[in-house]
Amino acid sequence: MTFDELGLSQKVLAAVQTSGYTAPTPIQAQAIPPALQGRDILGIAQTGTGKTAAFTLPMLSRLESGRARARVPRTLILEPTRELAAQVEESFAKYGKNHRLNVALLIGGVSFGDQEAKIMRGVDVLIATPGRLLDFFDRGKLLLTGIEILVIDEADRMLDMGFIPDIERVCKLVPFTRQTLFFSATMPPEITRLTEAFLHNPIRCEVSRAATTATTIRQALVASRGHADKRETLRNLIRDAENFKNAIIFCNRKRDVAILHRSLVKHGFSAGALHGDMDQLARMASLDAFKNGDVSLIVCSDVAARGLDIPDVSHVLNFDVPTHSEDYVHRIGRTGRAGRSGVALTIVTEDDMKYIDQIQSLIGKAIDWEGPGFDALPPPMETIRPQERRGGRAERGPRRERGRRPEAEREAPIRRPAAEREAPVSMGRPRGGRPKPEQEGFRSPSPACAAAPAAERRERRPRRHDDDGPPVVGLGDHVPSFLLRPVALRSAKVGEE
Ligand code: AMP
Repeated sequence: MTFDELGLSQKVLAAVQTSGYTAPTPIQAQAIPPALQGRDILGIAQTGTGKTAAFTLPMLSRLESGRARARVPRTLILEPTRELAAQVEESFAKYGKNHRLNVALLIGGVSFGDQEAKIMRGVDVLIATPGRLLDFFDRGKLLLTGIEILVIDEADRMLDMGFIPDIERVCKLVPFTRQTLFFSATMPPEITRLTEAFLHNPIRCEVSRAATTATTIRQALVASRGHADKRETLRNLIRDAENFKNAIIFCNRKRDVAILHRSLVKHGFSAGALHGDMDQLARMASLDAFKNGDVSLIVCSDVAARGLDIPDVSHVLNFDVPTHSEDYVHRIGRTGRAGRSGVALTIVTEDDMKYIDQIQSLIGKAIDWEGPGFDALPPPMETIRPQERRGGRAERGPRRERGRRPEAEREAPIRRPAAEREAPVSMGRPRGGRPKPEQEGFRSPSPACAAAPAAERRERRPRRHDDDGPPVVGLGDHVPSFLLRPVALRSAKVGEE
């Protein structure tokens, strides 16, 4: 099939030709003709399938007749994240270059004033995240009564992010007669209910099972002994990777994104970060730096990276195994796009194995292991006591009883090779910085320290503990022996002298 057969306008076809696309992707071939006829669409497709153009191209064709009025947008596209919204705006700029349409972005983190001014001028295409859209609506800055086409993109992600009540509200605010184009990678029951309530006799277009992973991606699992060793495992993966150009690194938690990012930079890697707590300008700057090649690594959370279309990513590195197996599919889909080859490596500890089993059953195949298995790995960092790692004496005093290792083991302390000790990233601290009671020689930061400003805490952190975790306070793990010596108290009799 060719684009000419889909019924798109000449202006749109000319823009598609300039993009260099030779044939429509399956979702485009299925969705564009009925969308041009004004039918509702239920598209079950992942990012990377060409679904943005599947709704952008027919919208552009249909918008050629009619004009926008102040405060009354003609079409509305809802996206779960700011990055996706910005990406859709880019698509309109690319495919709509032969049109004179006003496109506005309503996303958090950008000044209200500029956005309001755009809406006042009249908007043909409004691309928004649900929260900011309803904020504008509730302030009376916007009317939704002129919406001719409503696009709900990444609906399952909206569900994960708790946006479904907002989506339902928007669906009730737009005219009943509008056309709805609805896209989701998966169809959990809540999403099915939503489509039953708000789509009118939709054409269902399903391009592939959400659980399938592209055959262009080489996937592998890499064993890591414990949480404390994962950063070192990651650094080795990056250093040893073949055909490495750049990598998206995924963490499960926003906090860990920041920690890992700092750690990589400290170890001399050129890295950026992307997570939901960063302000919009910082997010865009990070993303641009990665896209332009100014940094070759970007550490991300799932929400921030969902659906990002960065065409040429050579590696996806899962620093954490995703706890929702569908996230695995989305993460690794950031590489191997548009027929290119890609590599997706996942760092796995023994605790993660239950999630690996779930992922393998979702994708319907076993993922190969790369490098030594758990049994062949060097001992975990957290079994090595801090005193031993520093080459110091075994700790004395009352605290040494806790988690003490057997006598024989203490006689021959486990040491890591010097090269490994050079980068004492974890120093036996558990991931996330919270000491575990069974770990010897750790102290929580005092509440006062925990509450201290970040800069101050950085100051106090000993330099050789070159990674993130609670700063050592007071004497740290070392208690000078004179403090442990019994104090002889002479009893003084009253009246003596
Ligand atoms: P999407 O699923 O919308 O994120 O698109 C994934 C990538 O496919 C984007 O980089 C698009 O530019 C590209 N793309 C979209 N349609 C086509 C097409 N018909 N032929 C080749 N690439 C396409």
